Amino acid sequence: MVLPVEPEFEQAYTELLLTLENSTLFDKKPVLKKAIPVVSVPERIIQFRVTWEDDDGVINVNRGYRVQFNSALGPYKGGLRFHPTVNLSILKFLGYEQIFKNALTGLSIGGGKGGADFDPKGKSDAEIRRFCSAFMRELSRHIGENTDVPAGDIGVGGREIGYLFGAYKRYRNLWEGVLTGKGLSWGGSLIRPEATGYGLIYYVERMLDYVSPGDTFAGKTVAISGSGNVAQFAALKAIELGAQVVSMSDSKGAYIVATPGTSFSVADVALIANIKLERKELFVLDDAFPTGKFTYLPGARPWIHLGKVDIALPCATQNEISGEEALALVAAGCKFIAEGSNMGSTMDAIEVFETERVKAPGSIWYAPGKAANCGGVAVSGLEMAQNSHRINWTKEQVDEKLKSIMSTCFDNCVNTAIEYSSEKTDGLPSLVKGANIAGFVKVAEAMLDQGDFY
Ligand code: NDP
Repeated sequence: MVLPVEPEFEQAYTELLLTLENSTLFDKKPVLKKAIPVVSVPERIIQFRVTWEDDDGVINVNRGYRVQFNSALGPYKGGLRFHPTVNLSILKFLGYEQIFKNALTGLSIGGGKGGADFDPKGKSDAEIRRFCSAFMRELSRHIGENTDVPAGDIGVGGREIGYLFGAYKRYRNLWEGVLTGKGLSWGGSLIRPEATGYGLIYYVERMLDYVSPGDTFAGKTVAISGSGNVAQFAALKAIELGAQVVSMSDSKGAYIVATPGTSFSVADVALIANIKLERKELFVLDDAFPTGKFTYLPGARPWIHLGKVDIALPCATQNEISGEEALALVAAGCKFIAEGSNMGSTMDAIEVFETERVKAPGSIWYAPGKAANCGGVAVSGLEMAQNSHRINWTKEQVDEKLKSIMSTCFDNCVNTAIEYSSEKTDGLPSLVKGANIAGFVKVAEAMLDQGDFY
């Protein structure tokens, strides 16, 4: 057996290719098949050394990257991830997904991704600042408001964006919208921190209403993994809409409500947000949470430990639902799975959800991250638009635009799945096919127009 050289990238590539080939797309538009080998190679990869000094005066070295994958629709756009697992396979998979996700937002943004194998955990603020400055020393040569506009991702939040932006300004002597997720008083957009989590919930609202017109989050049981930016705001919006959030987790373990019918509260999520800002593990909250409210499962993900659940929202990292866990979700009665994380489900898990969707029409519906979590990059696109015009929209204006983008994205996925489906089923259309085909067609047609293939 030949092991994949870039397993995560090859998984993302294979998943896209299988859905395109397993549809009528290339019968209807044969020329677009020529785009596949071209779109699957990044336009450019920048890899660089990052040396920085820790609080003990010791020099540390990390690997920094920016994958500038595709600029057919606009400047490269995608987050920066600071995590010890970062490597080219992971950044290429994220950049590849980002191309098609960004196309689904309907905005003029290309796809990219970057980061470093730096571990922010256990670092002081001064160390984070020195690392960000050292990272930007090289990255600043390759990005710009019309070239490449990075944002945050795992390990890169508002504080890191601030340090990175300050460093860029010093190196380039330019104040420009080169990063998104900026502070509100210096070019940031209202609702950007909330956008991915809120957008995920808005997407699922459309799924609920499509299956049973008038159905809402009220009274639904929602399982969430992760406890970072995406998970926190998905939880808060779900709670606001009357759902019961029954789990949250981090890389060390999961908290699950001990009694059916109870939910994480806004106050519980606020406690989580505070300790995550301090880069601490969830379990430090054992004494802070109301006594007996949650059960802590060390080293576990929530999926196989839940009672009845209506909606599952993976919001931590890639491949966080296995085939076995997907089967457990089906057995728990879960009807909707929507990814806040990128490639949250393994290929086996997607197979379980998609097989079940066809086998038992109306029983289960899976939405991939490239559609369901595009709200984050969409509001980043809105931040770029506000920066270009030197204006600020109100919270209500941005939220309204976010809702409209998620709704249009949902319609696009559904309509595209129906248009290119080769399935013989009266069940729900495949959102994974719809998302992949809609994103791919938009990018491939632009590349054809621009002479990238012919
Ligand atoms: P954060 O860094 O804010 O939070 C990440 C969360 O995931 C933390 O709870 C973290 O646990 C957990 N986690 C990270 N790595 C692992 C792992 N290997 N195993 C288990 N848990 C892990 O990141 P975000 O919330 O921004 O990102 C979460 C997901 O959403 C990622 O897949 C990201 O690519 C995706 N996404 C993010 C967007 C955004 O706007 N931020 C936009 C679109 C997608 P711990 O605290 O212990 O490290």
